Amino acid sequence: LGCQQLQQSPLLTRAAATEATPKEETFTYQAEVDRLMDIIVNSLYSNREVFLRELVSNASDALDKARFLAVTDPSIMAGREELEIRISTDKEKGTLTIEDTGIGMSREQLLSHLGTIARSGTRKFMEAMAAKGDSNLIGQFGVGFYSAFLVADKVRVQSKSPEDPKQWLWEAAAGSHQYTIREDDAADLVRGTRITLFLKEDAAEMSDTVRVTRLIKQYSQFIAFPIKVYSPKK
Ligand code: ADP
Ligand code: MG
Repeated sequence: LGCQQLQQSPLLTRAAATEATPKEETFTYQAEVDRLMDIIVNSLYSNREVFLRELVSNASDALDKARFLAVTDPSIMAGREELEIRISTDKEKGTLTIEDTGIGMSREQLLSHLGTIARSGTRKFMEAMAAKGDSNLIGQFGVGFYSAFLVADKVRVQSKSPEDPKQWLWEAAAGSHQYTIREDDAADLVRGTRITLFLKEDAAEMSDTVRVTRLIKQYSQFIAFPIKVYSPKK
């Protein structure tokens, strides 16, 4: 009997492991990211529309990087010559999508850029924010991505980097301490990043392209790449 048990247990373990082998992996944010998100959400509630400027500026940075790297490695542009930002909305689904044809993020980069804070400026930012709570500090210190959670219950990032053969999907809910990463079956991006914001009920106005266009004109007029805002399908 003892022998049988011994034989059985590795089988059981293996079966359990197979079932638990996740296509999707869950990660916990670095504690600083949690704290940063608390500060952003608590300090910027009345200034929520800054999220769009932050996401557009990230898209622009990623486009700059692609253009710069293509000087020495033209293959980066292969299959997708345009360097642009596309914004679209879906009122029914309550989403706002910001897509760029920039440098994208590999799986490793998604993990390190959207989950940890590697920058020394962030501690200073958090101190300044605790003291003043001024929304302009966000742009100054460059901690913009997490401002997406000002208007979104859930944020989905799909990204394709020339460095990584696969497209990845990063997803997180507002107020959660965790995010997930999985291979993206869509595999539809040649290069770049698509960020989908599943808007909070009280931020539904952000799925209105008229509102979005106005914000782009107001905050992002100096972006050096075309920003195309698509009207929703009728
Ligand atoms: P910052 O822009 O100051 O670095 P953010 O919080 O706005 O800080 O963004 C964090 C990092 O995530 C960026 O530095 C970049 O590496 C990565 N990132 C964010 N958005 C994109 C994007 N659209 N394309 C590629 N990388 C991005
Ligand atoms: Mg930024």
